[in-house]
Amino acid sequence: MSDCVFCKIRDGEIPARKVHEDDACIAFEDIRPAAPVHLLVVPRKHIPTTLDVAPEDEQVVGHLHVVAAKLARERGVAEAGFRTVMNCNAGAGQSVFHLHLHLLAGRGLRWPPG
Ligand code: AMP
Repeated sequence: MSDCVFCKIRDGEIPARKVHEDDACIAFEDIRPAAPVHLLVVPRKHIPTTLDVAPEDEQVVGHLHVVAAKLARERGVAEAGFRTVMNCNAGAGQSVFHLHLHLLAGRGLRWPPG
């Protein structure tokens, strides 16, 4: 989508600190980190929200978790623990309407989240 910030990062039109790229997804540092480790794992396909995930997207959504686990191991936070979060719609805090998996780690993460 032409006005989507994550599509623009995917296409190299705006900069990001990318930490992973493959055929199905990219991952980069969150510009406003909420934890010492805060990465976003983003499908290349523009899917606005979890509500828009179609049966043919099941593999790519699972793949986001495989990549998040790889990145958590690379960052050395896998054993201590980390959180993966997908916010859906504004009431849950979604601000960018291109599906993304947050990977948060490096500090105590309380439950339930705010
Ligand atoms: P959400 O609020 O769940 O939609 O998450 C969107 C995330 O994208 C927020 O944590 C933002 O800080 C992050 N974000 C927005 N614009 C950028 C950008 N240009 N580069 C990196 N992260 C961004």
